Amino acid sequence: MNVAKKSIATTSHHKLSMASIAVVGGGIGGLTAALAYAKFGANVTVFEQAPALTEVGAGLQITPNGARALAALDVVPNGIIAQAVVPKDGLSGRPITRFDLSQNDPPYQFIHRATLLDQLATACHNAGVTLRLNSRISSPPKGFDLCVGADGINSTLRSLINGPETPFFTGQTAWRAIIEHDAKNQATIWMLPGAHVVTYPLGEGRLNIVAVQERSEWAKEGWMHQDDPANLQSAFSNASDDLKSLLTKVTTTHLWGLFRHPIAQNWQSDGLALLGDAAHPTLPFLAQGANLAIEDAYVLARCCHDNGLLDGPKHYEGLRKPRVAKAIKAANANAKNYHLRGPQRSLSFAALQLIGKVAPSAFISRLDWLYDYDVTR
Ligand SMILES: Cc1cc2nc3c(=O)[nH]c(=O)nc-3n(C[C@H](O)[C@H](O)[C@H](O)COP(=O)(O)OP(=O)(O)OC[C@H]3O[C@@H](n4cnc5c(N)ncnc54)[C@H](O)[C@@H]3O)c2cc1C
Repeated sequence: MNVAKKSIATTSHHKLSMASIAVVGGGIGGLTAALAYAKFGANVTVFEQAPALTEVGAGLQITPNGARALAALDVVPNGIIAQAVVPKDGLSGRPITRFDLSQNDPPYQFIHRATLLDQLATACHNAGVTLRLNSRISSPPKGFDLCVGADGINSTLRSLINGPETPFFTGQTAWRAIIEHDAKNQATIWMLPGAHVVTYPLGEGRLNIVAVQERSEWAKEGWMHQDDPANLQSAFSNASDDLKSLLTKVTTTHLWGLFRHPIAQNWQSDGLALLGDAAHPTLPFLAQGANLAIEDAYVLARCCHDNGLLDGPKHYEGLRKPRVAKAIKAANANAKNYHLRGPQRSLSFAALQLIGKVAPSAFISRLDWLYDYDVTR
């Protein structure tokens, strides 16, 4: 892709040069929005509750749709280029098939959340964005033309224009961990009855692990709840030897309860616009949480540039809602496909194997609507 041609820097007339924008939340969505508004000429201040943009989180997958939006902001994720995705029977360790990912442009990448956050923070700094740390915000800061609510899954700003929401526990929990392990540049999906594990490399001999299990016992939502690795290992005691040997390398792990949140009814009102997890948290089964937040950020800034700060957020909401709803629906459906039991499980493996032999590109193309999307169009 010709990144330079699409970059804002070469196309913009900086129509937002008199605008002042407050972004609440310095996560992936907030920093991308800050960068986009700054590139469109606005004065941007980011308010982040944490004392530092610390090295937290584990791996993210940046799919071509997210990478395309980042490219328009002159950010090329410094991750590992994915070559393939390999579904495996998690009980026997047998690979079922292999789907090629190497032809994507821009490439599909695996990256540590902290690496991308760091790249975005540097780009924001270079674009003149002001970052205010230790700033927990509960209502839009005064003195700005627009407030962007990018305050994540437990967004305070969302409730201001939507009222309280009631997420429900999906009956699934996920552990995440990083181990030292050299692996091929591919994602592996180990499918077990009622559970699955996704592994992919993060570079420097690190392997990212996300292990999902269906269970009735409730677990807290959030990224920072530590758990005993023994719980993870015992949950997967029926796994194949190769998977078990990876899990025995886990020394630190975090557990999060997977909740379904409704998509916020209102994404904007009276000088406030929501994006990313603040507007539409998603389950992780399509790896789109960060990518949708990145797309949102670009589209919101672009709509404000093209339509003004009053109408821009309305255009943004209209443009984004159908796409986000489709992606979230697809993510919700995916867990079921990974967790099959009994005869359905064998049938699905046989079908996957056949597709992998006769029409592997058809399998990948069923996600063209997701990956081929270009926010700059
Ligand atoms: C600590 C952490 C670790 C994560 N780890 C992973 C991971 O390992 N794998 C994965 O796939 N996804 C992870 N995520 C989630 C992933 O980054 C997001 O789902 C996705 O990128 C969408 O980003 P977002 O910007 O909408 O929200 P987030 O990335 O959640 O960012 C929200 C930001 O807003 C800040 N904030 C919240 N409330 C306020 C407030 N009132 N005032 C000011 N600031 C506020 C938060 O501190 C955070 O920095 C993590 C998120 C966090 C916060």
